[in-house]
Amino acid sequence: MANLGELGYFLGVYLLIIAIGAAIGKAAKGRPGAGALFSALVGPFGWLIALVIKDLRPRCPDCKFVTPAGARKCGRCGASLALA
Ligand SMILES: [Zn+2]
Repeated sequence: MANLGELGYFLGVYLLIIAIGAAIGKAAKGRPGAGALFSALVGPFGWLIALVIKDLRPRCPDCKFVTPAGARKCGRCGASLALA
């Protein structure tokens, strides 16, 4: 049985890996939950998965610029966005 120090260290590293996965998922795909989930399952390999998963962020139909959820106008070209 691992002592508490080792367990705490392991948990800290594990949570850090998940946090990094969430950050990568959010930055690359707008999906922090998916990044955190894959990192929790397979560790650092989850970071790679977070980079290649499908991007579900809404995009401008005219210029393909990523728009915030709920935005009514594209931030780059100003085209009005159809409400999903
Ligand atoms: Zn646009």
